[in-house]
Amino acid sequence: MKKMVWLLPALLLAACGEAESGGSEEEQDLYITTSFSVLGDIAATVAGEHAEVDYIVPIGEEPHEYEPVPSDFRNVNEADVFYVNGLGLEEWLQRVVENAADTDVVETSTGVEEIPLEGEDGVDPHAWLSPANIPYYVDNIVADLSERAPDAAADFEANGEQLKQEAKELSAQIEEELADIPEEQRLIVVSENAFKYFGADFDIDTDGIWELNSHEEGTTGQMNRIIDVIQDRGVPAVFVESTVDPRYMETVSDNSGVPIAGEVYTDAVGEEGSGAETYLDMLRHNASVFAEGLAE
Ligand SMILES: [Zn+2]
Repeated sequence: MKKMVWLLPALLLAACGEAESGGSEEEQDLYITTSFSVLGDIAATVAGEHAEVDYIVPIGEEPHEYEPVPSDFRNVNEADVFYVNGLGLEEWLQRVVENAADTDVVETSTGVEEIPLEGEDGVDPHAWLSPANIPYYVDNIVADLSERAPDAAADFEANGEQLKQEAKELSAQIEEELADIPEEQRLIVVSENAFKYFGADFDIDTDGIWELNSHEEGTTGQMNRIIDVIQDRGVPAVFVESTVDPRYMETVSDNSGVPIAGEVYTDAVGEEGSGAETYLDMLRHNASVFAEGLAE
């Protein structure tokens, strides 16, 4: 009998609600839970047919201040391993870990060169937003999975190499796509200043109404500051994230006279049909939206 169910993308599985477990006479593969959909896609790509992969934070919600529900505790409890980003992203992690004491928690961003937050303590957790960081995520996942399922280590390695290669090619494409943006217009403005890793790798400045979704959002002081930045710099466009209430950026746009050029994906992959359902597609989408918005 052909093994089919594990070939379904993680996102599809999650969209169907909680994953079925048991009931099959087939050999039980690994069950991996990840903290958010971006990591879910990366882990599913590396694990291939050898694991079922789930994620906790629903698409469309942000992973910083998520409120875990009882089924999340169960998911993590049942998992062989729980992959998280680390770098302080999952502020709710402790609550889950306390309820799933036996499940290993692995930080997948280990090794990334950290970028500090601006004007605040701590580091920016959004390392995945630059494709140049994907080798760290892949290598950490390959190493962990290979210990858990040594027989499949060669597959994990091959899947990981493939993803790293695709990310590298995508990096080169993005570099080219962004090359035409004039120097003074090389500034990405979003609600949460989450593109620092992306900006550092592609020589583009970044700013936001606020630094982190889990901190204060959209105060008058923050709104006035970003409007000044936008007007001083003369950027032709600003952007809004799929996981943030768009009204903040709409207000900034109205008050600065600078249009919102499009929606980008930071803290979650896109909904089905968005064209940004996978990690690589979300990065590809983001780069196109930036290139179109800022080159004018
Ligand atoms: Zn975020």
